[in-house]
Amino acid sequence: MAAAPAPSGPAAGVAVRLRGVTKTYDNGVRALGPIDLDVGKGEFVSLLGPSGCGKSTALRLIAGLSAASSGFVEVSGAQASKKSIGFVFQEPTLMPWTSVHENVRLPLKLAHVSPDEAEARTGEALAQVGLSEFANAYPRELSGGMKMRVSLARALVTDPDILLMDEPFAALDEITRFRLNNDLLALWRNLRKTVIFVTHSVFESVYLSQRVIVMTPRPGQIAAEFRIDAAEPRTEAFRTSPGYSAHCRDVSIALAQASGEKLAS
Ligand code: ADP
Ligand code: MG
Repeated sequence: MAAAPAPSGPAAGVAVRLRGVTKTYDNGVRALGPIDLDVGKGEFVSLLGPSGCGKSTALRLIAGLSAASSGFVEVSGAQASKKSIGFVFQEPTLMPWTSVHENVRLPLKLAHVSPDEAEARTGEALAQVGLSEFANAYPRELSGGMKMRVSLARALVTDPDILLMDEPFAALDEITRFRLNNDLLALWRNLRKTVIFVTHSVFESVYLSQRVIVMTPRPGQIAAEFRIDAAEPRTEAFRTSPGYSAHCRDVSIALAQASGEKLAS
């Protein structure tokens, strides 16, 4: 007997599928596309492009926070109203008047998860980002990196299949960013989530990703893509390896070409 088609969502093995996706805002700004993209389940993909090229727009379309002007976005396992997506914004966007614990617990509260289960899952998410000891602290007591960890825990607490991250570490100092890069990779290895990571840093995209998608300036289209093969687990040794430098060079050239071509056209 033939299997019934899935009620919604892309083919098996694909977490997110974009086909002919464009976005034009109400004010007439054509921000994105057309874009065709498949992201595999469990894959770590970066969208790399200059400021204003439509990266945040792309993430918002995938998250269902905004509607495409044309084309379609499919997310695996998704009933339109219940997408298994966690979103980490560029700003940690924490509630300043309450504790780390309450900030992380918020999505469970909104989903009416029982208090006992919410307690357990909040504790687990805080442990995953290394903040168990700061559960009762207030956001103002935390460093920028710690606030971002809280934001990450809040995205993980509902155990989403897909994590969308919008330049989460862009405002952090380099040492903190490197540490968070490593911790994010460890989480990705352990939790096996699909990650779509937006950045304008070539170095960050190459360090983190299995695949780097290079975008053109607005309206953002896919100019090139690179598979980053490296021995796992990636560590600081990868950052200083010749392979890493070579990938960074290739990606940088593609990014410059994409920008130049668009400016010249
Ligand atoms: P990126 O994240 O790559 O910096 P964005 O997706 O934020 O780019 O924005 C792409 C373009 O769309 C920019 O020119 C931006 O000014 C414009 N834009 C973003 N959001 C809106 C909006 N809500 N209304 C109108 N224009 C917008
Ligand atoms: Mg952005």
